[in-house]
This record gives sequence, structure tokens and C-alpha cells, in this order.
Amino acid sequence: MRVLAFLDGSLGDPAQPYVRVDNTGVLRGDGIFETVLVVDGKPRELGPHLDRLARSAAMLDLPEPDLAAWEGAVQQVIDNWRGSSEIAVKLVYTRGSEGDPDAEPFCYALGMEIDEKIKKARDEGIAVALLNRGYGPDIAERAPWLLLGAKTLSYAVNLAALREAERRGADDVIFTTTDGSVLEGPTSTVIVVRDHTLYTPPPTVGILPGTTQRAVFRAAEAVGWGVKVENIPAAELSSADGVFLASSVRKVTRVHTLDGIRLPDSTALHRELCEAYEALYA
Ligand code: PLP
Repeated sequence: MRVLAFLDGSLGDPAQPYVRVDNTGVLRGDGIFETVLVVDGKPRELGPHLDRLARSAAMLDLPEPDLAAWEGAVQQVIDNWRGSSEIAVKLVYTRGSEGDPDAEPFCYALGMEIDEKIKKARDEGIAVALLNRGYGPDIAERAPWLLLGAKTLSYAVNLAALREAERRGADDVIFTTTDGSVLEGPTSTVIVVRDHTLYTPPPTVGILPGTTQRAVFRAAEAVGWGVKVENIPAAELSSADGVFLASSVRKVTRVHTLDGIRLPDSTALHRELCEAYEALYA
């Protein structure tokens, strides 16, 4: 099941081609995106997703997005969805046709089913490999043109890291800095739990500020847990009470194995955290 909607409110046929062969998103990955989770017809964290879309657009010098039009396109997808109870709605925004100074941005919202593998991982947990990203912790400040912190369409590196994980017998990746600090997953935010306090690295280390991480922190605070945004040495992961990867479609996924070594059992902690997170949307 797929539903395609454009920003003028019209629907498209997701099986038909719409993107021009000279589109900058296709030729150079020059564009931005968001993936919004919709459950039972209700989008989760839509405001923060749209805010991040606007922030990414500004970082790429793209025209300011019309957030009301984007919201309308998401609603069109929801209204026309006939699939299962959860939808992953991708918001895709490319600069347009290459070499055309008057190029209009090319934008759409595409509703898709959530991968079974992702759903299974929510229940069963995942094995993760630590991969050095080759950057120091001050890279975002020293080299803003790397666009760290923008959600760009250039995900070839992120996908290569996931293939490397597979070669190492793992399901996913946690990137680290050259000095051994935790960054993020290729498509997720890292959350570490110790003594009923949640930790996540600050976006200033050159990672995407996660909408799910923020929601999970809100949920944890509501049930009396502590939350801290601070540097996390990768060496401390293996002794934490729990290590989790958070993102819109995977929600909160438990890491059970790190670099081939089984982590302390965080099943009960995971259940508590998921209950608090789901309660936000009850
Ligand atoms: N970090 C990266 C690099 C991502 O691609 C994503 C989501 O795809 C996230 C973090 C998590 O963001 P969110 O929770 O807003 O989905």
C-alpha cells in the first residue's frame, strides 16, 4: 500500500514516474526529507518534523517550505490510506532541475507500509556494531558545510554503514567520533539509560536532533525519570542499564548486543520506556 500526495493537495499514482531525470535529488542527493510515523490516523511529532524540515531547508539554502501545505499533504496521505494501522510518511523536498535557475523545488509526501524487519526489531531488539565516523566532536562547528544536523537526501554513507554492519553480523550501527564519543545511528538517535536517567549526545557533536528522542525524554520525565543531554563515551555503553536506538519508524528499539558482546538484559526497562512513550499518544 502506498499513497502519494503533492503540496497542491492533489494525489498521484505511486506506481507512475513523476521525477525528472535531471532532478537534483536524483543526480546529487541535493534535497531534504523527513519520515513521519502515523498511528491510527494520527501523525506523531508532526510539528517537530516540520520544524526540522524548515531548519534543514535553511541549512541547504532551499526556499522556506510552506508548512501548511506540507501538513495538508500529510493529511491527504492519511485520508486516502487503506493499509495497516501504521504509516511511514516520507516528506521529500528536492531543489528541482539541475542547471535551471528558475527551477521549482520538487516536493511530495509518500505514505508507505513499515518494513516487517523494523517492526520485529521493536519487539526482539537488535545487534549493533560501533563504527568510527572519522570525525572529531567539533566537526559541526568547524565545517558547517558538511550539513551535519540537516536531514539531507545524501544517505549513501549511512546505507554503506548499514551494509558494513551486516558484514559484521549486526543489524545496525552506532557511529563514534575519533575520540571515542557516541554520535548517532545511520537512521536513529542513541539513548542510554543508567540509574533511571536517560542520556543522549548533544546535537552540537554533529548529529541530527531526533524528534523521537525528544518525545521519549518528555515521556521519561513525565514518569519521574531523569534526562541528560551530554557527551557519552562509547566505552561506557557496555555497562549501561540499557542502550536504545530511537527513530520515528523504529520507535524505541533495544540494543541487545554490541560488537558481538551481549549487553545486560534491558527487556524490563525497554517495556517501561515503551509504555511511557506510547502514553504520550494515548
Ligand atoms: N539520526 C539520523 C541520522 C536519522 O536519519 C534519523 C531518522 O531517520 C534520526 C536520527 C532519528 O530521527 P527521528 O526520531 O526524528 O526520526
